[in-house]
Amino acid sequence: MKYNFTVQKTTTPKVKPDPNTLKFGRAFSDHMFIMDFDRDRGWYDGRIVPYGPISLDPAAAVFHYGQEMFEGMKAYRTPDGRVQLFRPYMNAERTRKTNERMCMPDMDPELFVSAVKAIVDVERDWIPEKEGTSLYLRPFIIASEAFLGVQASNQYMFMIICSPVGPYFDIPGGGIAPTKIYVEEELIRAARGGVGFAKVGGNYGGALKAQEHAAAHGCSQVLWLDANEHSFVEEIGAANAFFMIGDEVITAPLQGTILPGVTRASVIELLKKWGIKISERPLRISEVVKASEDGTLKEIFASGTAAVITPVGELKFRNNALTVGDGGVGPTAQKLYDALYGMQTGTREDDMGWTVEV
Ligand SMILES: *Cc1c(COP(=O)(O)O)cnc(C)c1O
Repeated sequence: MKYNFTVQKTTTPKVKPDPNTLKFGRAFSDHMFIMDFDRDRGWYDGRIVPYGPISLDPAAAVFHYGQEMFEGMKAYRTPDGRVQLFRPYMNAERTRKTNERMCMPDMDPELFVSAVKAIVDVERDWIPEKEGTSLYLRPFIIASEAFLGVQASNQYMFMIICSPVGPYFDIPGGGIAPTKIYVEEELIRAARGGVGFAKVGGNYGGALKAQEHAAAHGCSQVLWLDANEHSFVEEIGAANAFFMIGDEVITAPLQGTILPGVTRASVIELLKKWGIKISERPLRISEVVKASEDGTLKEIFASGTAAVITPVGELKFRNNALTVGDGGVGPTAQKLYDALYGMQTGTREDDMGWTVEV
């Protein structure tokens, strides 16, 4: 291997959480990965150490100007006991694009993937076995230089923490369930020229208010509209959105405001392979409303690493509740979920070459 990291094992391993009651992102494994950067040395001192608090100067740039980024991926245990990742080089390439936009240092994709593999290898026992569970991985980079000027930091820390997670939907036997989504017409998530395509913290802190709107309307998430006209559909919460109208599946084009999801790219490739028409094009909410009225709105679903595929059963738009399809889980969403989840967890042959063994 091109990159080598030191490993300091914990002397006080934790008791692992009960796999039957695992929540999302509450429990953390025994170790974490850390690597430092400064302008003179580049990335250096990659190491795996016991999980725990870190010490930072209160003037560290990340606290004041939000110069930081994160990634989200999972390690899965297959029925025959192997451990695998799903398309990790896509996360590594996305990291490069995010870093470039945020004036953060470039990172060799091989370094990113080597670090992910190294921490997963050490935390192998932390990957739960139960159906629907996995080890969620959170790589992130923060600006650590102590300086109160608005400029790019000269020092950074790259870290990876791991969290055993349960199934996203609480369904006996696993699988997916329809959700209600609120169409957010007032607040916006991202504008052209901004940082919507990058996984940077500010995008999510700024989205919490809309999450409150959704909850106030009895919905689990918002459907974001574009920043200019508040009329084109963009994303659903922190996941990419797909609309099936007639026999065409439509998703927003990547023009700077959409996070280019690994799951989104995989959905597009699978639909193409299956001969289902998939268009990356602007779609107005008015077109979605009209389709729901004339009965051609077949399905809406969201895609992302956390939930894989989330079907939408109902849209709340102004004071109307629009039923999507028959309000249940659509066949396209189900087929995509089965294919992706099956490949990720090794219960189905990976005929796309997307999984990487650790
Ligand atoms: C992470 C994220 C997604 C999904 O990306 P995946 O790589 O599929 O997990 C979509 N939209 C937003 C805003 C995100 O933060």
